[in-house]
Amino acid sequence: MLSRPRSTIAQAARVFATVSLAAAVAFAGSQTAFAQGVPVVRDAEIEALVRDYARPIFRAAGLANDGIDIVLVNDSSFNAFVTGRRLFINTGALMTAETPNEIIGVIAHEAGHIAGGHQQKLRDQLERAKTMAIIATLLGAGAIVAGATTNSRGLAGAGMGVAAGGGEMAQRSILAYQRTEEITADRSAITYLNATGQSGMGMLKTFHRFQTALSLSGAQVDPYRISHPMPQDRIANLEVLVKQSPNVDKIDAPALQQRHDMMRVKIAVYMEGQAAATRLMQKMRGSMAALYGDAQSAYLYGNIAAALTKTNALIKAQPRNAYLQELRGDILMKANKPADAADAYSKAVSLDPARSGLLPVSLGQALMAVGTPDSLKQAVVRINDGLGRDKENSTGYRYLAQAYGELGDIPGAELATAEGHFYSGNYKDAKIFAMRAQQQMKRGEPRWIRAQDIINYKSSGKSQ
Ligand SMILES: [Zn+2]
Repeated sequence: MLSRPRSTIAQAARVFATVSLAAAVAFAGSQTAFAQGVPVVRDAEIEALVRDYARPIFRAAGLANDGIDIVLVNDSSFNAFVTGRRLFINTGALMTAETPNEIIGVIAHEAGHIAGGHQQKLRDQLERAKTMAIIATLLGAGAIVAGATTNSRGLAGAGMGVAAGGGEMAQRSILAYQRTEEITADRSAITYLNATGQSGMGMLKTFHRFQTALSLSGAQVDPYRISHPMPQDRIANLEVLVKQSPNVDKIDAPALQQRHDMMRVKIAVYMEGQAAATRLMQKMRGSMAALYGDAQSAYLYGNIAAALTKTNALIKAQPRNAYLQELRGDILMKANKPADAADAYSKAVSLDPARSGLLPVSLGQALMAVGTPDSLKQAVVRINDGLGRDKENSTGYRYLAQAYGELGDIPGAELATAEGHFYSGNYKDAKIFAMRAQQQMKRGEPRWIRAQDIINYKSSGKSQ
C-alpha cells in the first residue's frame, strides 16, 4: 500500500526518523512476538475463510473455547500445524488444495492431535518461537523416517545431510513419533467431519498425494509430509473409515468453493507470480475467481485504471463482499485518491463479517493520507479500533505512531512505537521507547501505566 508523502512539523519529523530506523528492523520480519522467525502474512479475507473452515471442526473437537488463532505462513510448501493456541497454515497448502474440504480435512486431523494431547512436548517446543529452526530439524530427521518407510534412497540421503546439523533432542522427539497417534488423529478427524456433516475425501486426497508424490509444491520436501509419515496401511485404514461415512459424497457448498477459489487465485497472484496465476485462472475461466485474479493482477502490476474497472464490475456482482471493497481501497490508494480509498475501506469495515483488525488500519492509513487535522484524528480512532481487535498487528502501531507524530503528540508516538516493538517480540527496544514516552507523560495517567507495563514486562518466552 502506498501513502502519499506529507509535510510535517520539524519535531514530528525527528521522531519519524527514529521510528522508521528502528521500525525497519523490528517490523520487517515477524508480525507477532510468538511467531518470530516465521514469515507471517496477513490478509483479512484469507484469515476469515480459514477461520470459517476451522470453527465447526474446533467446536466438534471440544476446542471452541480455546480461542485458537489462525496464522498464515508465507511459504509455498505444504504445511499445517497447531501449537498451543495457534493454527499455522502455509499459503502453499491453501493454494494447492482444490477444495475447502481438503483443507478442512487437514485441520480436522490437526485438531485430532490437539484434542488427543499428542506430542505435547514437541508442540511446546514449536511454540517457543523456534518454529522454523525446528521445521528445519524435522526436515532432516523426518526425511530419514520418510525415506525408510518408502525405501526412497534419495530422500533418505538428503535427510541425513540436513539432520546432521539438527538438534539431537528434536530428532529423538520426531523419531519417537507415535504411529498410533497418527491413526488416532485420523479417527478423530473422521469423527469431527461426521459431526459437522462433511466428507473425509478431501483429507484422503491430500494424504494420497503425499504418499504418491515427493512434493506437492515442487519444493524438495513438504514439511507436512515429514511430520506426518503416511505408510500404506495408514492410508488404507483411513480410506475404509472415509468410505463408511454417510457423508462421503458430500461436497462443499458452492459459495464456500467460490471463496476458496478466490483465495487460491489471490495467493497465486501475490505469491507465485503472474505465470502461475494465469495458469490457475485459465482453469477457472469466466468464474468470479478468475475475474478476481484478473483485477488483483492489474492492481499489482500497475494497470490502475483497468484494475478499478474490473473491481467495480466485481462489486456489482457481489455488493456485500467486504474484500472487494478492500481491493477497491487498495487501488484508489495507489491511484493517489485517499478520500475515495477511505470511503471504500469504510465500506469494507462495515461489511466485514469477521471484523478483521486489518481493515480499520487500512482505513486509518487512507485517512492519514488525506492529511487534514480532522482526518488525522479520525485515523487515530480507526487504527486504535483495529488494534483493539488485533493487538498483535505490529505494522498498525507504526501507522499509529506516525499519525500521533503528525498530530504533534510525541509521547503518543513513542508509546505506539514501544507497543509495535513489544508485539514484535523486541522487548529491549519496546522498553527504551516506553521510557522515552513516560518522560513526557504525567505519572499515573493511563498511557503512563501502559508504558510502565511494558517496562516491567519480563520475557518468559511466551507472548502473553
Ligand atoms: Zn498427524
